[in-house]
Amino acid sequence: MEKAKIAILGLGIMGSGMAHRLLSAGFPLVVYNRNPEKSGPFAKEGASVSATPRNAASRSQVILSMVANDEASRNVWLGNDGALGGASEGSLLIECSTLSSAWIHELASEARKRGCRFLDAPVTGTKPHAAHGELVFLVGGSPEAVADAQPIFSVLGRETVHLGPTGSGALMKLVNNFVCGVQAASFAEALTFIDMARLDRAKALSILTGGAPGSGIVKRVADRVGSGDFTPNFALRWMAKDLSYALREAEARKTTLQTVGAALSLFQRAIDEGHGDEDFSAVSKVSPPKHQ
Ligand code: NAP
Repeated sequence: MEKAKIAILGLGIMGSGMAHRLLSAGFPLVVYNRNPEKSGPFAKEGASVSATPRNAASRSQVILSMVANDEASRNVWLGNDGALGGASEGSLLIECSTLSSAWIHELASEARKRGCRFLDAPVTGTKPHAAHGELVFLVGGSPEAVADAQPIFSVLGRETVHLGPTGSGALMKLVNNFVCGVQAASFAEALTFIDMARLDRAKALSILTGGAPGSGIVKRVADRVGSGDFTPNFALRWMAKDLSYALREAEARKTTLQTVGAALSLFQRAIDEGHGDEDFSAVSKVSPPKHQ
């Protein structure tokens, strides 16, 4: 069966890994990135490069976006020379970025007006999972569109979970990430407490990571603290973005996520102290405010 022509919008940490996977699997690929320098290596591997999302979309049957936040997504789909202006009727649009469900609903409605099919399909997994096709897709949209996207999801991921109608993938991803963010913030506070109490840090970390608190996320942060390497797999500023979207989505549903508010304030301090572009685990470098 002929492989679908795919456009990928966004060649950051995640988008670049996904683009490599699609090229390795033999999909005809068009790439677009706001900073055009990131497209160069993909041209050498056989991808076509587009200067605008609109041009990339006009050359493709499936258009997949993997960009930073709501603003970036709005730019690539609806901005000047945005992808929706170039997408043909019937094409399949897949938004993989972690975004608010409010924006996802707006985007899905714009897609419908243009006769395009739409899936919100954010992912769990990080840089190595994107590079090795081990992501998990959390998908919202029609079962038919999910089935059509599955050959692509299978190359990029190890599992596809269809959560329900449009927006449900986006919401589930925010729930997933707020639980991660809260654990990372809590671990950061534990480190401060351990140091202030003059407990043996190595022994304390071994107890925390080896016992009941030792979730995948706590272990990841503890590893980074141990190595002192905060090169981003997942940038701290994007974790803060996910926490703020989760808070907003909960407020819209008349719910208050108290632990998320507390975690976000710690991540915000980390950004203010210059750690926004480091891995989210750099939240462990920030001391919580001292009791007055
Ligand atoms: P990243 O490395 O920072 O890449 C961000 C991408 O968005 C780049 O292509 C960037 O273009 C583009 N972008 C940013 N602002 C833009 C704007 N205003 N207009 C157009 N393009 C813009 O981020 P990432 O880690 O790949 O994350 C991408 C998405 O996946 C985010 O929503 C993130 O929350 C989510 N996610 C990340 C991970 C992870 O572990 N990294 C895991 C799951 C989900 P430039 O190159 O021009 O800046």
